[in-house]
Amino acid sequence: MAQGIGTKCVQAGYVPGNGEPRQLPIIQSTTFKYTSGDEMAKLFDLEADGYFYSRLANPTSDAVAKKICALEGGSAAMLTGSGMAAVFLALANIVSAGDHIVASSTIYGGSYNLIAVTLKRMGVESSFISPDSTREEIDAAFRPNTKLVYGETIANPALTVLDIEKWADAAHSHGVPLIVDNTFATPINCRPFEWGADIVVHSTSKYMDGHASVLGGAIVDSGKFDWSLHPDKFPGLCTPDASYHGVVYTEHFGIPGAYIAKAGAQLMRDFGCTPSPMNSFMLNLGLESLHVRMPRHCENALAVAKYLQTNPNVAWVQYCGLPGDKYYDLAQKYLPNGSCGVVSFGVKGGRRAAEAFMSRLKIANIETHVADSHTCCLHPASTTHRQMNDDELIAAGVPADLIRYSCGLEDAADLIADIEQALK
Ligand code: PLP
Repeated sequence: MAQGIGTKCVQAGYVPGNGEPRQLPIIQSTTFKYTSGDEMAKLFDLEADGYFYSRLANPTSDAVAKKICALEGGSAAMLTGSGMAAVFLALANIVSAGDHIVASSTIYGGSYNLIAVTLKRMGVESSFISPDSTREEIDAAFRPNTKLVYGETIANPALTVLDIEKWADAAHSHGVPLIVDNTFATPINCRPFEWGADIVVHSTSKYMDGHASVLGGAIVDSGKFDWSLHPDKFPGLCTPDASYHGVVYTEHFGIPGAYIAKAGAQLMRDFGCTPSPMNSFMLNLGLESLHVRMPRHCENALAVAKYLQTNPNVAWVQYCGLPGDKYYDLAQKYLPNGSCGVVSFGVKGGRRAAEAFMSRLKIANIETHVADSHTCCLHPASTTHRQMNDDELIAAGVPADLIRYSCGLEDAADLIADIEQALK
């Protein structure tokens, strides 16, 4: 029976049998016991399902991955120790030295740095284009060695909204997948697979955990991108993996399972960016109320954005849920039930005014975080993006006066009163 998203938040992933614990058990064990070497050999040869070492797979983490997979409507999923680990594995599962990535220019600074600097050092080239690019401009960014396209549903902190259908269509016409970071929207507000995206990544450290408690990441495969139609582009998925007994992932696991099986068997084995079972358990607690929390984050953000528009000390406000916002129409299409709790705005007086304003806030704390139950704010130009000059900041969609204000779950009236006294 098809279930609603709220039921999946609470119930998916772990189904206890008779007499078993109601809450997801924390299997806090590095390793698993077997009575014969042969049994374990079958696991190593991928001939049997089971657990043998928690770097590769753990039952607690797998149950939570299954829940996120169900929420996104995917075919397979895995957890990682952080969102950056998820982004890295999702990309490295496809690209190697000599390949090329097309990415939206407004993606999260950490993901930008990974692609533009670290992957470049590993021999992977990239082209960054505006999320507002026309179809012709997206097409023009492709090269014969392009292996994937990358963007964020709602970009952090630029708050641009990706036209997922257009970007997916462009990617597919060049025979490559679209990978979407769905951290800010969460599957409560947008499910990118329904619009043609092929792989979704998350920093679960944000709304999914929701309480600023545990770092984590997730990768979900839609199971719809047929790697075997382009074996020349994706040899890692379509030809024998010498490091894993010559397995051909697309043949052994089928199209729905190949991508995550490879990321787990090969990349998790080699990079070891595994979440702890305890962290996966805490993430699961957060997920159980995601569908209840997201509407409140969005409600608070819309109230704050509307208030900011009326204050004469505010230079500009950006929130895609706000009528008149540049991304309002796209948000109505992709995020009709709400977008996220993060609002960007500029105070009159630029950088110094922004810093003075933030230091006077009493409820919102200054933090390098977003998207949890406590309201927080940040001035990217003087913190996370301080290595960029003013022109680079504008290109990244983060002008020097931008304040990123992440609405938590407090009362909107209190947040507005706090902003009002600080602006005075
Ligand atoms: N993707 C987005 C959109 C983010 O906002 C972040 C972190 O802020 C990341 C990925 C990286 O996640 P983490 O901090 O969990 O490594």
